[in-house]
Amino acid sequence: MSEVFVLYDGFSTMCAKDEMVANCSCTLVTGGHNIIVDTMTAWDSEKILRALQNYGIAPSSISYVVSTHGHSDHIGNNNLFLQAKHIVGFSVSFRDKYYMHPFDKGEKFIVNDSVEILPTPGHTLSDVTVLVRTKNSESIAITGDLFENMEDIGNPNIWLEAGSEDPVQQMKNRSKIADLADWIVPGHGPKFKVTEQIRKSLREQSGDTCSMKKG
Ligand SMILES: [Zn+2]
Repeated sequence: MSEVFVLYDGFSTMCAKDEMVANCSCTLVTGGHNIIVDTMTAWDSEKILRALQNYGIAPSSISYVVSTHGHSDHIGNNNLFLQAKHIVGFSVSFRDKYYMHPFDKGEKFIVNDSVEILPTPGHTLSDVTVLVRTKNSESIAITGDLFENMEDIGNPNIWLEAGSEDPVQQMKNRSKIADLADWIVPGHGPKFKVTEQIRKSLREQSGDTCSMKKG
């Protein structure tokens, strides 16, 4: 069984009309495999190494690096982990070898008994979510920017303004992941508990967006 440790909470704040300060949530999964999800900006290598050291984890013992999508704040330190398979959005590789996986057909990538990687396009067309079943039998979804932060459930402008290449799909996948998960680690905010109220609200928004598209 696996465990999930958020090494750094992501954040994003507008600081001027066309400037924003942001970094992503960086998360460690331990258990069957050591996995790091979203490696922040290229300037954060020391921070990541320090955090891993606190858990007694050497970069060489990371088996998978997952970047939920290819934006610069989610891939910055992938090259600290050269023994790991790299999954960046829908792309799976090790060194110069690429492994075809049909994420685009909706198929999940199974890492082990307690970790799977699901295609959840929307923010970009090739976003993925890491779904972990912990030893307390809870499901934790590490979603990248499928969810910007908890506040974006009440105020969808937050995730829309953060950029969405396909809002209709994103809305559907937000609802799907909320139905599967007890906790969400969003791309740019602290981990939060998924309540029935959140699930209901996302289902309604998803229905609205779909009927809007049809209309
Ligand atoms: Zn991001």
